[in-house]
Amino acid sequence: MDDIYLDNNATTMVDPVVVDEMLPFFTEQFGNPSSIHKFGAGVGRALKKARKQVQNLIGAEHDSEIIFTSCGTESDSTAILSALKAQPDRKEIITTVVEHPAVLSLCEYLEKDGYTIHRLPVNNVGQLDLAYYKSLLNDNVAIVSAMWANNESGTIFPVAEMAEMANEAGVMFHTDAVQAVGKIPMNLKETKIDMLSISGHKLHAPKGIGVLYLRRGTRYRPLLRGGHQERGRRAGTENAASVVGLGKACEMAMEHIEFENTQVKAMRDRLEQGITEAVPHSFATGDLDNRLPNTSDIAFEYIEGEAILMLLNKVGIAASSGSACTSGSLEPSHVMRAMDIPYTAAHGTIRFSLSRYNTMEEIEYVISVVPEIVANLRKLSPYWDGDGPVAEPEKAFAPTYA
Ligand code: PLP
Repeated sequence: MDDIYLDNNATTMVDPVVVDEMLPFFTEQFGNPSSIHKFGAGVGRALKKARKQVQNLIGAEHDSEIIFTSCGTESDSTAILSALKAQPDRKEIITTVVEHPAVLSLCEYLEKDGYTIHRLPVNNVGQLDLAYYKSLLNDNVAIVSAMWANNESGTIFPVAEMAEMANEAGVMFHTDAVQAVGKIPMNLKETKIDMLSISGHKLHAPKGIGVLYLRRGTRYRPLLRGGHQERGRRAGTENAASVVGLGKACEMAMEHIEFENTQVKAMRDRLEQGITEAVPHSFATGDLDNRLPNTSDIAFEYIEGEAILMLLNKVGIAASSGSACTSGSLEPSHVMRAMDIPYTAAHGTIRFSLSRYNTMEEIEYVISVVPEIVANLRKLSPYWDGDGPVAEPEKAFAPTYA
């Protein structure tokens, strides 16, 4: 069997149809979209078409609400910094503890600059307390930034409801929808979301292209100033080939959204059920009733995620783990810690993230190899003794985090 790619929340394969659509923009269609002559005009028309394709996928009211950026990170930064610049009297930001570093690191930086950051906690399935959120909304808050879906657990936040609440309190609302766009249906014109971030490489378009959706009428200050590209909202000559690729990828995502929520979900469910039934002391994390259809984050208790990944890699399976080897200690991810997953499980979480390119045959193969990998690693684990965990596993080793 060929190698099996189950790490689509990290990045996706560029769809071959998307590649074909992009190629002419490296050769004969090389013009600058801002030029008046025919070399530029054709490219300008291609950008317009791509803007429409993005608009359709997210259900935006108008194509002028689509601003092309270089990545999801740039879109997140632009949204938050724009809100602060546009409302200099407002010094507070509301976000969540489980955001991607694209938001978390920026907020840490802003905190050092004197802003007050409210980080909403999550419960043990990764959901927010909306009553607490509501209590924090006030007219010192410049912006709420809450992700649509979590990149590790797949848990979906009720962003439409949260945007409504922010709007009632007169507060801007941004959502990092990098993991959600193309996986679940959206219709932004029916929501009060002011800004939304997209990243091309999570939906079968290339890396290095993103979108900031900016609702018409939302106060805005550009991050990059210079030329008049993107109606003066994001200077810099457009990455035309990647914009065209992203447009095509959005069109294809729309065609496959039903497939994603039926077939891809069925493969994900089979994978999760097959593994958790065959492997004792394993369980899926996150909000199992309300999460992305392609994501399954499974905790294998009493072993290390990194070790599982290495053995999976040896048999041709690519997935990812929530832990990262930093300064000699394997720290569970901030998402697992926020959900209060016991450290004996949080260390051993593996994220399987599927795409429409996976097959049920691949899934059955993964189910057939995982139990032995886990059993072999447990033989080496200080938390494991023969057929089960040691008497008091939490005392076998001191936790590496408080
Ligand atoms: N936000 C989320 C939720 C993500 O998963 C990622 C990528 O992993 C990003 C933002 C950053 O996107 P990009 O790699 O395009 O900067």
